[in-house]
Amino acid sequence: MTKHVVVIGGGVTGAAIAYDLAQRGARVTLLERGSIGSGTSGRTHGLLHSGCRYVADVDVARECYLENVTLRKIAPFLFEKNGGLFVAIDESDLKYKDFFLKKCEEAGIPVKELDRNEALRLEPNLNPGLKAAVLVPDGTFDPLKVMLSFLASAKLHGADIRPFSEVVGFRIESGAIKAVRVLDKTSEREYELEADYVVNATGAWANKVARLAGLSVPVKPSPGVMVALNARIGHRVFNRLNKPGDGDIIIHQRGTSVIGTTSWVVEDPD
Ligand SMILES: Cc1cc2nc3c(=O)[nH]c(=O)nc-3n(C[C@H](O)[C@H](O)[C@H](O)COP(=O)(O)OP(=O)(O)OC[C@H]3O[C@@H](n4cnc5c(N)ncnc54)[C@H](O)[C@@H]3O)c2cc1C
Repeated sequence: MTKHVVVIGGGVTGAAIAYDLAQRGARVTLLERGSIGSGTSGRTHGLLHSGCRYVADVDVARECYLENVTLRKIAPFLFEKNGGLFVAIDESDLKYKDFFLKKCEEAGIPVKELDRNEALRLEPNLNPGLKAAVLVPDGTFDPLKVMLSFLASAKLHGADIRPFSEVVGFRIESGAIKAVRVLDKTSEREYELEADYVVNATGAWANKVARLAGLSVPVKPSPGVMVALNARIGHRVFNRLNKPGDGDIIIHQRGTSVIGTTSWVVEDPD
């Protein structure tokens, strides 16, 4: 564990990898081209998914739920353990309910069906015309707090965190990366950083960075739009009880409620 690992990307993936490696004793340098979380992670909805949104793929749903449980265990202070509701408004939602409940059971996600009155008692601001609801183990989080906590712990274990440091190339010898070329954006100076291992944790930019090493990683970057209200209209996460679609979730976190998200595919994440 004396190896030097360069982690590229200061989003939630890079932050968690840096934390994990530093805790195991590796020498870690994390490079982020902007500020921490300036990519996708600082702009997420902030929903700690229960896995229920992904029940069409039981393996993905199960994995998501297990990650949810792990995160709550290792960092209980980072999440609002408020739970969530999947709410049926129309007949199509009601038809989806049986499939949804069966798949949640297969994935091992603990859920509880509620009738209209129970749901409204828990969340008086729900649509009074709702037909049914299912209580699920969702949660909400402040993305910056999550990343900064992982990075603070990584730093405590010796990791070197370098924001405003963009990877602009690699030195490759005998088919292996020997060093990373870094542009320090605060001084406009370029320098080389030798590395035993390099982790590409650049999310939507993973292909752009891989191309610098002559590799290809298929990525379909998909942005989205959310609407944040300057008021909190509920306690639990509100999800539409149907196949995932646009604008079908409202999360409540601290003093806000956020409606989201849309999603479409773009060529270039920038
Ligand atoms: C609108 C929207 C809402 C979402 N809501 C949720 C949600 O509620 N819950 C949830 O779990 N997930 C949500 N997601 C998904 C989640 O945000 C992503 O899966 C997650 O943020 C990806 O993290 P990451 O660290 O892999 O990528 P990123 O956070 O994008 O991090 C990659 C980093 O790499 C950096 N980088 C790129 N190129 C270079 C380079 N050359 N040198 C150095 N650094 C570089 C970027 O600046 C960036 O900060 C949402 C996604 C979107 C788009």
